[in-house]
Amino acid sequence: MLEVQNLTRRFGERTVLHDVSFSVPANGMTGFVGANGAGKTTTMRIIMGVLKAHGGQVNFNGSPIADGDRARFGYMPEERGLYPKQQVLDQLQYLGQLHGMSRLDARSGALDLLDRFGIADRTKDKLESLSLGNQQRVQVAASLMHHPTALILDEPFSGLDPIAVDAMSSLLAERAATGVPILFSSHQLDLIDQLCDNLVVLADGKIVASGSAGELRDRAKSTHVLVTPPDAGWLREQPEVTVHDVAGPRAVVEFASEEAAQRILRTAIVRGSVTEFAPQRPSLAEIYREVIR
Ligand code: ATP
Repeated sequence: MLEVQNLTRRFGERTVLHDVSFSVPANGMTGFVGANGAGKTTTMRIIMGVLKAHGGQVNFNGSPIADGDRARFGYMPEERGLYPKQQVLDQLQYLGQLHGMSRLDARSGALDLLDRFGIADRTKDKLESLSLGNQQRVQVAASLMHHPTALILDEPFSGLDPIAVDAMSSLLAERAATGVPILFSSHQLDLIDQLCDNLVVLADGKIVASGSAGELRDRAKSTHVLVTPPDAGWLREQPEVTVHDVAGPRAVVEFASEEAAQRILRTAIVRGSVTEFAPQRPSLAEIYREVIR
């Protein structure tokens, strides 16, 4: 497990991280979200030791993180970092060997990853001759080469087509299942919804929500859909009910308590019919929008 504790960072007079704390558990993937400039890249750079924090610390498996730990992490920085003029396979193999893999293991590992990403036919090409999306696939492969003990990925999905997104999602899920903590930033809330077991939301350098998807959903406001023909308008007059939307017989409402929900259900049945009464679990995307507001 990776823990970020009370990180503070300034650039000149501006404080861009204010007492940022969150954890990246070893079970599942953690999505790191927030508007442009919120401080995600800065946090990831501090985790990787590329930038120094002005306060706070990072722990890995219960101890302050050391350079030796970071050397075994997989990191995909925002500025990427492979050599445009080098061949794809040579480059990945070299990186694997830098991390202590044998030439043969590095080569077969690289071929395997390139195959998983659907670009096994581009192994001899220079990186710069690939499309941007395919270069991105190679960048991701580079971060996975040496079977890292944790993954810190800055917008790994940006620019990938849906097939590559699927390939990458399943590769990351496999690594997560082996107990590797994964932190990745993204602006694609639909992907965060699909992939993440944990969410960290940053706004203007402050944590506004963090935790497991289940905890965050339990804490978020939950609504019900109630369909009660012919017209659900009467719900507006009811105490302990906040009506978010009514369209004919269909209403989206928030109840003040479970008792209120049951009372309204009974009232609706007495008044006519109920064709749907369903709690709606908020998606992570909805939770994000709620906390960022
Ligand atoms: P994005 O989603 O756009 O990538 P982000 O959440 O990753 O944004 P950061 O790149 O961490 O945000 O930037 C946080 C703030 O820190 C921004 O206001 C940025 O301008 C500032 N910042 C980052 N690096 C530097 C630097 N080297 N010098 C000065 N300010 C910086």
